[in-house]
Amino acid sequence: MAKPNLTPLEDALDHLLSEAPVVAQIETVALADSLGRVLAENHYVPADVPPADNSAVDGYALRKQDLHGDRPIPVSARIPAGEAPKPLEPGTAARIFTGSEIPEGADSVVMQERIEVTESGILVQAEVDEGQNIRRRGQDLTRGDLALAKGTQVRPNEMGLLASMGVARVAVLARLKVAILSTGDELVDPGLPLGPGQIYNSNRFTLMGLLTEAGCEVVLCETLRDKREATRETLQRAAEAADLVITSGGVSVGEEDHVRAVLEESGSLSLWKMAIKPGKPVAFGAIGGTPVLGLPGNPGSVLVTFLMVGMPYIRKRQGRNPKPLSGERIPADFTIDSPSIRREFVRARKESRGSGPVVAAYPNQSSGILSSTCWADGLAVVPENSTVSPGDLLTYYSFAELLS
Ligand code: AMP
Ligand code: MG
Repeated sequence: MAKPNLTPLEDALDHLLSEAPVVAQIETVALADSLGRVLAENHYVPADVPPADNSAVDGYALRKQDLHGDRPIPVSARIPAGEAPKPLEPGTAARIFTGSEIPEGADSVVMQERIEVTESGILVQAEVDEGQNIRRRGQDLTRGDLALAKGTQVRPNEMGLLASMGVARVAVLARLKVAILSTGDELVDPGLPLGPGQIYNSNRFTLMGLLTEAGCEVVLCETLRDKREATRETLQRAAEAADLVITSGGVSVGEEDHVRAVLEESGSLSLWKMAIKPGKPVAFGAIGGTPVLGLPGNPGSVLVTFLMVGMPYIRKRQGRNPKPLSGERIPADFTIDSPSIRREFVRARKESRGSGPVVAAYPNQSSGILSSTCWADGLAVVPENSTVSPGDLLTYYSFAELLS
């Protein structure tokens, strides 16, 4: 059992999702600019796709009943793709190509590899089934059907489908505007020299990448000094500019940790400390009416808490349809001897062994070890109060799934 002051992940998510207003603004973008955007309306099929029966192969269109043993059939027409065919003359065949419309009167297409061309016509060298090699009108999309639902995030796949329906402009929800605030007197931007006691600000870039991949718009990105007033002022300014403020660091119990204190004093704090490892100090609250997600400072914890807590929340605010994680059950290839009261998300990767896939863990799981996140391709879940022995089945989530 988790200590009472540590909120279990499910409870924390229930709470966050119950306070996750969907972005209200809708905009229209060109289909070419729709990648990653969220559909603001249902898309019903305006006309059958394909619009007419067409050939699946290069070959000859004919009527099955016109085949008589080894008597050749004359070729009366040639139908290139893109042309409207005339009805097929009875007793003849038409030369046809992949994607060409089937002429009225033909009921089958024989691929050219099954044909012998003679001077008096074609000889069919195979059994013919009526309807063979014909792609039927509407077999992909039927007029009036729901092709894509509101709340679908547009992938290349959806871009293609929308194009196939003739959609040129798409109504999408506005991108969620997010502010990234990195707290810490020790932080220096990459590109500048490091002074004594300083480290480079990596969280800012991890978060920028995660938010960009998640389809958000980063509207403000600042580094905050560990001062109460500066923290308050910047949090308030960020809250005005964004739909969501994400901070890193400054949410632990040290006297230099001002984010949580400012939320309590000048806004609200509805959640603090979660029963997950890494990433115990996650705070959630609001300032000036804008939600604030306070992530820990340790770089490993930032990635894990963003994926496990931030992503489900962001997905909901983006107006995307819920997508429960599926994960995979894979035998562990590592050992954890001492159980934790927190659920552990182990930076891990899937490897293949002779016996099948296993999930391997990066040897150093300290929350400051950022290289572990590049070695890994996902997270393996160790349940609360559990040890792990090689061969134990664990749930494994790939980073790709967590971020999708
Ligand atoms: P904090 O929660 O502020 O005490 O930070 C915890 C640890 O994470 C400390 O070692 C910080 O130096 C480190 N840290 C905090 N913010 C960042 C950042 N933006 N980039 C890299 N490390 C950080
Ligand atoms: Mg700090």
